[in-house]
Amino acid sequence: MQAQTEGRREANLALLLRTLRARGPLSRAQLAAGSGLSKATVAPLLVNLERRGLTERAGTTTTQGRPGELVQLRPGAVCGIGLDVRPGHLGATITDLTGDVHLRRQTRCDTSVPEHALDRLADLTRAALENLPRADWAGVTVAVPGRADRTAGTATATRLRWREVAVVDGLAARTGLPLDRLDLDTEANLAAYAEHDGDPVDDLVYLNGDHGVAAGVIANGALVRGADNRAGEVGHVVLDPLGGTCCACGRRGCWETQVGLDAFLHACAPRDDRVHDPALAPTERMAILRGRAERGDARTLDALHRTAEALASGLSVLTTLLNPRKIVLGGYFAALPDWLVAPQEQGRTRVTASALGFTAGGKGAALAALRRVLDDPTVVPVKESGPETGGSHEGASA
Ligand SMILES: [Zn+2]
Repeated sequence: MQAQTEGRREANLALLLRTLRARGPLSRAQLAAGSGLSKATVAPLLVNLERRGLTERAGTTTTQGRPGELVQLRPGAVCGIGLDVRPGHLGATITDLTGDVHLRRQTRCDTSVPEHALDRLADLTRAALENLPRADWAGVTVAVPGRADRTAGTATATRLRWREVAVVDGLAARTGLPLDRLDLDTEANLAAYAEHDGDPVDDLVYLNGDHGVAAGVIANGALVRGADNRAGEVGHVVLDPLGGTCCACGRRGCWETQVGLDAFLHACAPRDDRVHDPALAPTERMAILRGRAERGDARTLDALHRTAEALASGLSVLTTLLNPRKIVLGGYFAALPDWLVAPQEQGRTRVTASALGFTAGGKGAALAALRRVLDDPTVVPVKESGPETGGSHEGASA
């Protein structure tokens, strides 16, 4: 019975935390109404959350002539660390429970050597932890541009030349962090998670415009993973089997060979053009191309026009198959919205540009790393002398 009661208390604490995330700041009465719990149940739970430093008072509100104290999530109380891997680049993002980004760092790296990339990811993790002197940390999640086996903790990514690389074990060995705080997932899944965070639309498809093209699918509010965790690999839907070019996967005419970043850059400029310079960050390359398009450069505009058309063909397949309320275009699609997003029409499905651009995967990874606390707030220990004492790096280890 005791365990059952505690299980219910943890579930109710989690419910309050999620309600505050979605709608806060709220009065106790509003929180009771929003969570479906009674005011008498909410009161001790709020004390519990505040003692863990997760919530704080946020002034008063007056409803029906009666003043009520407002409660909100405490900014910076607990943070999630997201790492992201792209060919030639690594990134680190820190977000807190409110979704605010506290840090976004990017570094160049030869990602084709997994051991080297893991060394640098470990450096980024250590640097991120040093940036959290007063906060508890929930976990570290790595976004990979390929397949992620979350049970084995391994990643396979053709673009990185990674094959079943032990990301979780490798990071744990290098940082000494506990395995249960480390996780990985595909970049597209995590980007979809970031896009869905705070968006009431529960049927949403995120499409990543990068070297590889993949989708993160949210249906009825939940991520669709598929039987073998391979749902969303839409870049390899064959749209032109006869006349298409060869794909990294070995087939011919995959959608990715039409709308992937490599195909797009190739269509935009000759090989010696600086947009192909791997030293340039993707946002810098897109800024160059946007400038050319705005000046009316014929080759750039032609490439944009043909990419928008090929994008529309594939999107119609996604729309027919999944009937989403919304499709969010990320990566380079979002960097050139006037030409690649605005012309898209998919019936009643709204097509929008991601506001997060190339950082969506990293932010989603940081948010996903917070799930451990959102699922069970009691993993954050009660603070000895009030929330102002902060916590240590080991704070949330319970
Ligand atoms: Zn392919």
